Amino acid sequence: MEGTYDVAIIGGGINGCGIARDAAGRGLSVYLCEQADLASGTSSTATKLIHGGLRYLEYFEFRLVREALMEREVLWRIAPHIIWPLRFVLPHHKGLRPAWLLRLGLFLYDHLGGRELLPATSTLDLTTDEAGRPLKPGQYSLGFEYSDCWVDDARLVILNARDAVDHGATIRTRTKAVAADRGADVWRLTAVDRRSGEKTEAVHARILVNAAGPWVGDVLAVTRRQNSPPSIRLVRGSHIVIPRLYAHNRCYIFQNIDMRIIFAIPYEGDFTLIGTTEGDYVGDPGEVRTTAEDIDYLCQAANRYFSTTIAPADVVWTYSGVRPLYDDGASEAQAATRDYLLDLDEAGAPMLSIFGGKITTYRRLAQHALDKLERYLPTAVHARRNWSGQVPLPGGDFPVQGFEALVKDIGRDYPWLGAYQSRRLARAYGTRARGILDGATRWSALGQDFGSGLTEAEVTYLMREEWAEEASDVIWRRSKLGLRLSQEQVTTLESFMAEHREEFLAR
Ligand SMILES: Cc1cc2nc3c(=O)[nH]c(=O)nc-3n(C[C@H](O)[C@H](O)[C@H](O)COP(=O)(O)OP(=O)(O)OC[C@H]3O[C@@H](n4cnc5c(N)ncnc54)[C@H](O)[C@@H]3O)c2cc1C
Repeated sequence: MEGTYDVAIIGGGINGCGIARDAAGRGLSVYLCEQADLASGTSSTATKLIHGGLRYLEYFEFRLVREALMEREVLWRIAPHIIWPLRFVLPHHKGLRPAWLLRLGLFLYDHLGGRELLPATSTLDLTTDEAGRPLKPGQYSLGFEYSDCWVDDARLVILNARDAVDHGATIRTRTKAVAADRGADVWRLTAVDRRSGEKTEAVHARILVNAAGPWVGDVLAVTRRQNSPPSIRLVRGSHIVIPRLYAHNRCYIFQNIDMRIIFAIPYEGDFTLIGTTEGDYVGDPGEVRTTAEDIDYLCQAANRYFSTTIAPADVVWTYSGVRPLYDDGASEAQAATRDYLLDLDEAGAPMLSIFGGKITTYRRLAQHALDKLERYLPTAVHARRNWSGQVPLPGGDFPVQGFEALVKDIGRDYPWLGAYQSRRLARAYGTRARGILDGATRWSALGQDFGSGLTEAEVTYLMREEWAEEASDVIWRRSKLGLRLSQEQVTTLESFMAEHREEFLAR
C-alpha cells in the first residue's frame, strides 16, 4: 500500500526513540508517536547512570551486566557532551559483604568487558582521602572506588529522536495511539492529537513496535492481542535533590540497612541527587508521585553515612518514575530482573513489544529488536546492522575526551558568555551549541532573557529542533533550569512559548 511505513513505533521514551534512530539509520521508513512530550515517561526519571549495575552481579545477571558494561564507553563515545565518567566511592563497614567479596565483584566489574578509557577500581584510605571527609567521623577507614558513567537521560532520548528525524523518520509528539488494526501484512494505526483532541490521519505500517514502557499492557489492549503476552511488573522509584552536600566530584554508593543501594551524586553543579526508593506500584504510571515517606527514607539513608544531617525541609526538588520490568516472578522488587524481553507476535503483520530494559542498554535493545524483525525487513538494510554505535548523536561529533577543549573553544569564540554558560551550553548541545549562538557578538543578540542564562535563541532552538512546546518541556526535560528559575520567570517563559507555539507546529 502506498504511503506505508516500514515501522510504526508507539512510545517516545528511550527505547522507542532508540529503535526509531537505529531503524531510520538502516534506511527504513519510520513513524513514531508519543502521547505527551518525548521522555515524559520513565526515561526522564532515572538515576541517570550508564552503568553495568554492580549489584546485579549478585543476581548472576552476567549477560546483562556485560552488555551494560560494554555500552558505557560506546555511548560515551557517541555522546561525549551528555555522557561523562564518574567515580563511585563505596565505604566499607561491618554490615556490608566482606571486603574480599567486594574486591572480587569489582574485579569482575573491571574485567567483564569493554573498559578501555574508564579508570579501574582502586582502594581508598578514607581516613586520609578527601572522599572520607563528608562521612561520619571515625566510622569508615576502608573504601573502594570504581568507574561508571553519567547521562542526561531526557536529553539522550531527545537526541535519539533528533537523529532519527535527521535520517528521515517522522515523529509526532502529543499524539496518542488509540487503535491498531491488524491485517495479514499491514497495520493501521489510529492516533489522536492531544492538543486538539482530534483524530489524526491513520498511519499504515508493515511492523508495529510497542515501546510504551509502563503502558505496554495498555497498548497491547489497544491492539486487541489474542494470545497471552508476558507480564509487566511496575516498580516505583523516587529521588530527592538537595543543595550540594560536599565539595568533591565523586559519587557515593551506600548500602542501606534494608540492604538496598542508595546513590549520592553531584548534580547540576550546585546540588546533590540522592536515590532511589524501590517498591511495587499499582495504578496509572502517569500519576506516580514522590511521597513524604520516600523523602524521609532517603534523608535517613543519607544521614546514616554523611556527617551533615539532612531533613525533608532541605529538599529542593523530587521526582519519581516507574520501571517497566519484565515480571520474572522474583519476590522482592529489587530482585526483579533488569534485563529486557522482546516479545514478537506474528499472528498477522508482526508486532514487537518491549518489556523491561535500562537506559544503559537501550542501543543494544534497539539493535536486537531490529535483528529480531530482520525477516520482515528489506534485505538492502541488513548491512547497516552495526551503525548506531559508530556515529555520534547530534552535537556529539568531537573526541570522547575532548569536552574541555569544546568548552574552551566556545568560550574563546563567545567570550561574553562567561565560563558557566559556555559549559552549560556545551553540556546540553555539544557542537550544536554554535547553532544557538549563531555568530552572536553580545548577550542581548540572543533575544529575550528568561533568567539563569536561558535566552530566546535557546528556547526557539528547542521549539524548532527538539519538539519543546511548553515551559516544563524546556526546564525539566531539555534542561534542569527548573532548579534555578523563579515562578515568575517560568510564567514569562510559558507566555512566550504559547505565543510562538503555532509557528513551530505549522512547520
Ligand atoms: C527510579 C528509576 C531509576 C532508574 N535508574 C536507571 C539508571 O540509573 N540507569 C539505567 O540504565 N536505567 C535506569 N532506570 C531504568 C530506565 O529509566 C527505564 O528502563 C527506561 O527509561 C524505560 O524506557 P521506555 O522507553 O521503555 O519507557 P518510557 O520512558 O516510559 O517511554 C514510554 C513512552 O510511551 C508513551 N506512551 C504510552 N502509551 C502510549 C500511547 N498509547 N500512544 C503514544 N505514546 C504512548 C509514554 O508517554 C512514554 O513516554 C531507572 C528507572 C527508574 C524508574
